[in-house]
Amino acid sequence: MSAPAAGHYDTVIVGGAVHGSSLAYWLSENPDYDGTVLVVEPDPTYERASTTLSEASVRHQFSNPVNIALSQFATGFFADFHANVEVGGEAPDLAFRETGYLFLATEEGMPTILENHEVQRSCGVDAAVLSVDDLRRRFPYLHVDDLAGASLGLRHEGNIDAHALLQGFSRRARRNGVEYLADRVVGLRVEGAKVTHVDLAGGATIGCNRVVNCAGPRGAVAAAMAGLALPVEARIRSVFVFDCREPLEGQLLPLTIDPSGLHFRTDPPHYLAGMTPDPDTEVDFADFRVRREDWEERIWPALAHRVPAFERIGLTHTWAGHYAYNTLDQNAVVGPADAVPNFYFANGFSGHGLQQSPGVGRGLSELITYGEYRTLDLSELGHDRIVRGEPFLEKNII
Ligand SMILES: Cc1cc2nc3c(=O)[nH]c(=O)nc-3n(C[C@H](O)[C@H](O)[C@H](O)COP(=O)(O)OP(=O)(O)OC[C@H]3O[C@@H](n4cnc5c(N)ncnc54)[C@H](O)[C@@H]3O)c2cc1C
Repeated sequence: MSAPAAGHYDTVIVGGAVHGSSLAYWLSENPDYDGTVLVVEPDPTYERASTTLSEASVRHQFSNPVNIALSQFATGFFADFHANVEVGGEAPDLAFRETGYLFLATEEGMPTILENHEVQRSCGVDAAVLSVDDLRRRFPYLHVDDLAGASLGLRHEGNIDAHALLQGFSRRARRNGVEYLADRVVGLRVEGAKVTHVDLAGGATIGCNRVVNCAGPRGAVAAAMAGLALPVEARIRSVFVFDCREPLEGQLLPLTIDPSGLHFRTDPPHYLAGMTPDPDTEVDFADFRVRREDWEERIWPALAHRVPAFERIGLTHTWAGHYAYNTLDQNAVVGPADAVPNFYFANGFSGHGLQQSPGVGRGLSELITYGEYRTLDLSELGHDRIVRGEPFLEKNII
């Protein structure tokens, strides 16, 4: 990378959490990218970023080949994480715990399980369709009488330490010469369909050749600064960690998705659960209130129904974070805006953005450096579908 010009950067990234730092990492790792990179991030602690409030689970079982490919790329990257991000021989511990995902289905849900399984098999996903008898044998703690089967990921699915992933990207990007600035982008100057300058809350104005929107739940606010519409809003997700009086001995529970919408898994030494709130509406950016009422009224009853031992549990801690929820199709929006081609999106990841960060960062870095995708073709996730109002649906949404 060349030395930065004062007050002007080739690429300005809005937001330095996992997507901003992944892109900074990939640009700065690529000798063909001959430019400067500035990451603008108002909160260097990332206390309220989706990234650090994530459940940090990773799966290959999507319905959509591009989402499968992004997760496959991620798990390949995670396998060599130390070598990929080390600085001076040191790298954070990603702590990948391979537990699998278990999608449970009633009679009504089985056709979708089978349909998804076919797509997954053709993409090389290591997953198995289980009968109710298989479920009884493998997961004796589950109540299965109202189920018809399931799909279980056999390899490469589990969870990671989200802080470690973010830290790995950002430390290495800094080592490579990327600059991080503790400030907030408050305006973009657009001249002749091109962003030319970025205005910061601290009063500075930075010239740029391009801007990348990695502002998470505030992605629509950043897009609006360039006069662009983005159907992304903040939606609250509460996470409940609990102890069980009779721990399920010897069992690491996979991330289990119940037909009720409940999900749960082991979170050693405890368990963790969550469920989409009802109603699921846009929340204020400052609203991080844990929806305790959901625990009492919906989550605990659903847990006790599926795992009778979970009748006797106690909450140990809770937190809430925001999904950057794409209201059109709950899928990522990645790539340039037609109307302002030097403004790029990395937005709308809803509930599966952490695992997409290595692949999306790499893809965008290729698009910026070469004008085309080389490793993974992410064009199906482009902003043009948003302009046309055509959803690109993912059926396996959590
Ligand atoms: C409870 C919960 C559970 C989740 N579980 C999973 C999971 O199991 N697996 C998975 O893959 N994903 C999961 N996700 C989703 C995942 O965490 C996100 O998709 C991902 O972290 C998004 O990263 P990001 O960098 O785009 O956004 P964020 O992490 O939200 O970061 C955006 C950054 O932009 C900054 N910013 C905003 N506005 C500006 C501005 N104007 N100027 C400068 N900076 C700005 C913010 O300060 C912030 O640091 C979960 C999310 C939540 C909330």
